[in-house]
Parts: sequence; structure tokens; C-alpha cells
Amino acid sequence: MPVSLYTMKRHVLDMTVAQLTGAMADLGTRPFRARQVAQWIWQKHVTAFADMTDLPAGLRTRLEEKLAILSARLAARTDASDGAIKLLLEFLDGQRVECVGIAAPQRLTACVSCQVGCAIGCSFCATGLDGLKRNLTAAEIVEQVFWLQSAAGRRVTNVVFMGMGEPLANYDATVSAVRAMIDPARLGLSARHVTVSTVGLPKQIRRLAGEDIPITLAISLHAPNDALRRRLIPLAVRHSLTDVISAAKAFYQARHREVTLEYVLLAGVNDSPTCADELAGVAGQLRCNVNVIRYNPVAALEFLPPDEKACQVFVERLRQRGANAHLRASRGLDASAACGQLRQSVQHEQTTR
Ligand code: SAH
Ligand code: SF4
Repeated sequence: MPVSLYTMKRHVLDMTVAQLTGAMADLGTRPFRARQVAQWIWQKHVTAFADMTDLPAGLRTRLEEKLAILSARLAARTDASDGAIKLLLEFLDGQRVECVGIAAPQRLTACVSCQVGCAIGCSFCATGLDGLKRNLTAAEIVEQVFWLQSAAGRRVTNVVFMGMGEPLANYDATVSAVRAMIDPARLGLSARHVTVSTVGLPKQIRRLAGEDIPITLAISLHAPNDALRRRLIPLAVRHSLTDVISAAKAFYQARHREVTLEYVLLAGVNDSPTCADELAGVAGQLRCNVNVIRYNPVAALEFLPPDEKACQVFVERLRQRGANAHLRASRGLDASAACGQLRQSVQHEQTTR
């Protein structure tokens, strides 16, 4: 249960209901009051103690002084023409992350960040450009769901850890946030509707397989062989594709959940027919879906996406070779594009103004 260094308030969004009861008992409050507060937060999604109208006014003030529900402020909001919403949140130490809400008729998917920046530094990704600033706490990860709900005016149904940062490099906070999301007494999402996307850290994938959280695991492959993968993902020097795939198999065996392999298509880099054939071979080694994603260009980087037709041809070739492959639409990207780019563009505006 981290205490904010800046306000000395304890954050509640990563506490179980029992932990919240304990924290409120420390303030001299009886357990039924904690149940009321938990209901306001987790069932009614109210994020200010002042609005918890069945608590005595004095208690509301005391809770406000000692505990924090939200800790960020909204620094920017961008709305895409397809209804996607991208928020830039600023924490009390001035660090910023972005999160995106993607709406469909039956779904609101929250794409959340887990770190400020990222240490992995994939060559095509905006997030890695400035390295890692810091990890987010579990509460700061969960908080993004609340901000997106309030911006969209509806409940989040799905969460994907596909914003800024590498979830398995911030393992404890990620797992603790996932637990808050799938706990029936808290956010209560279906575990299969929570997807953790990783660049592929074999040891941590195996550790995740041992947790009692049957989430969906997505692995960023982006290349069907080690030589190419190491050009795109510097960290892949330490982990071979064979290690990553064998960890993915272990995850499937432990959790019985099909793994998703992500493959961002970069023109002239990983989109050749040979790459498709090799990728189908890799995918054939395990129970998986292959999500092919058209690259979203980043201003400071030289990579480009193939045209739409070439993407379809690539996916079709995968299918003909037996892979369960899909071309994923880059929804919400006209607003200010993918992973890390809203933060980049706001910083750019601020430094050039
Ligand atoms: N660090 C994790 C999760 C965050 S990135 C990971 O790498 O999996 C989520 C996904 O977005 C990854 O598959 C990543 O490779 C992809 N991505 C990053 N930059 C992108 C861009 N400009 N266009 C399309 N996809 C991108
Ligand atoms: Fe980090 Fe993922 Fe971006 Fe790679 S793609 S730099 S792992 S956020």
C-alpha cells in the first residue's frame, strides 16, 4: 500500500476491501463505514470522499485529509473522430502518462500505461525514446480506468496494458492492479477481458503463469527470427525467440488461455512474404492468435507502415499457412496516434512554445 511521498496520503485504489477496512480502522473508523466507502468507490465509481453523502461530514473531511482515491490531474484530452478518447494524466511529481478509451457498442476498452516511459527502447516506439522515468504504482494504473470512465461517461468493460511501459518490468504493480480489476468486490471485470501485453520477458511470463489470474497474455513478437527481432527490440539480445515461445507455451499450459502474438507491420522491414512464412511457422508451435497491427508512424522515427492492401496480403498469407491471424484496425489513432505519442506531442509543444 504505497503512501504518496508528495501528500503523505495513502492511496486506496490498490487496497483490497479488507485493507481499506484496516486503513480506516487506523483512523478510528468502524468497519461498516469502510464497506460504505468501498461501495461508493467500486460499485458507484465515486472518486471524491466529499460526494459520499451517507458518511458524516466530519468523517468525509478526515478521509479526504488522510486517503487519496485519484492522485493525477487531467493535463490534456484528445477525441478521435471514431469516438476514442486519449487522456494525458499528470501525477503529483509532474510525471505524465497517457491512457486511451476505445468505445464499441458493447464495450469500452481502457488502454492503460504502467510506466512513465520505458527502458526497453524498441526502435519503432515513441514511448522508449526518453527511456524510463519511473514505474507507476498499482493505484496509478487502476486510476486510469476511473479517469476514462468519467471522460467516456460509461463503465470500462475491458482493459489492455498497451499504453506506455513494459508491464512485466513493473511486475508487482501490474499484478496488483490486475487483481483490483478482476476482484468481484472491486472493479469486477472478467479476467479474460484484461490483456497484459509484454515485449516478451520469459522469466516473468513463467511467473505470471503461476499466478491465479487467468488474464489474456499478448506477446509483442514483431519479427519471426532472432536476427530481425534484435534489430527492433534491443532487449531481445538477452532472450531468444525460442525462450519467449517456450514461456508462452508454459503460460498456455498453466492457464489454458490462448496467447496473442502481436506483430506490428513495418514497411520494408518485417512485411516480406518470407517473414509471413516464417511467422506462420513460429505461430504453429503454440495455441495462439496472431494480431497484425499496421504501424502508426512516429514523427521522430523513420519507420513507415505498409499500405492497407499489403497488410491484408500479409495476413492472408499467414492464414493460408494455418495461422489464426487478424489485421487489427488502428482505432483512435487519428487523435494523436499510438503508444507514447500524446505525451511526446504535448512535450514538443511545450518546449517549442
Ligand atoms: N511494452 C509492452 C506494452 C506496451 S506497447 C509491449 O511492447 O508489448 C503495446 C503494443 O503497441 C506493442 O505491441 C508495441 O509494439 C505496439 N506499438 C508501439 N508503438 C507502436 C506504433 N507506433 N504503432 C503501432 N504499434 C505500436
Ligand atoms: Fe517499451 Fe513496449 Fe514501446 Fe518496446 S513497444 S519501447 S517494450 S512500450
